[in-house]
Amino acid sequence: MNDEVENPFSLLADETRLGIVEAIGDASGDGEYVSLPYSAIQAALGDHDAGNLNYHLRKLKARFVERTDDGYRLTVPGIRVYQAISSGQFDGDRPTVPPTELDADCDECGAPLLASYEDGRFFVHCSDCDIMLHRYPVSPNSFDPDDVEDLVRTANTRIHLDFSSMVDGICPYCSGTVDHDLSTDDRVDAGVEERDVFAHLTCRVCGWFNHLSVEMVAFHHPVTVVFFERRGVPEHYLDPVVPGEWTTTVPSTDPWRVEVTIDLDGAEGTSPVGRDATLGTGDTLRLVVDGALDVVEWAVLE
Ligand SMILES: [Zn+2]
Ligand SMILES: [Zn+2]
Repeated sequence: MNDEVENPFSLLADETRLGIVEAIGDASGDGEYVSLPYSAIQAALGDHDAGNLNYHLRKLKARFVERTDDGYRLTVPGIRVYQAISSGQFDGDRPTVPPTELDADCDECGAPLLASYEDGRFFVHCSDCDIMLHRYPVSPNSFDPDDVEDLVRTANTRIHLDFSSMVDGICPYCSGTVDHDLSTDDRVDAGVEERDVFAHLTCRVCGWFNHLSVEMVAFHHPVTVVFFERRGVPEHYLDPVVPGEWTTTVPSTDPWRVEVTIDLDGAEGTSPVGRDATLGTGDTLRLVVDGALDVVEWAVLE
């Protein structure tokens, strides 16, 4: 079969070829993907037989490496393959982190929350009731498995960036366009229409999806990040449990208007130290999210 039409995954289904991609990738860094001389590739593979190495390089040249004056360099698909290998996502011996108590309690029952890592996923769940706060894929090589705080920090950063990207309409994994729709439950509390509104986000291209409450759209919004930062909680999305009273109401479903109010009055962990006039001096932030998941209004209330 002609190399040009050969399936890219069959081209990669070979130890030596993956070894070549890894060798060129490992030699890169410091702000560039290098060209690795033929002799260096040969040495990295343990003085591979020349005829055989040429054969595999020819196969890879169809897509994953290109010839330069200095040797061989990864193409963009080659870099993507190298990233997939080095993330550890396909390793058989991925690390696990056993359920470890966090310095945070369950909102529902007050029992301590536990963080863990298994089968490539990060979990935060209650030690007593059924509450599961997080269940999210995180690359095995992105955190120190002996340091649960590093796991929580890394995973929460990943979640913050992914949610923000999805809400902005771009898939964080394939850059495809993300569609979304909203739905609400029927719980209507006396007096106020306090209820959860859920956003269902799906990538048109790769099918990656998130289901999150619109409260989470407000949670990850830049205004909220700055509001918390100015009240002594920098990068609030890294904390297992964020302080304050959060209330969601739905003034309108056509068009969608979801109002999220965050009240930090006297909340544990906040401090007046960072407060300044840039974002008001009040303790309450109110944001209004519309059907496009944009924050169309916000105000700090005294
Ligand atoms: Zn609980
Ligand atoms: Zn996608």
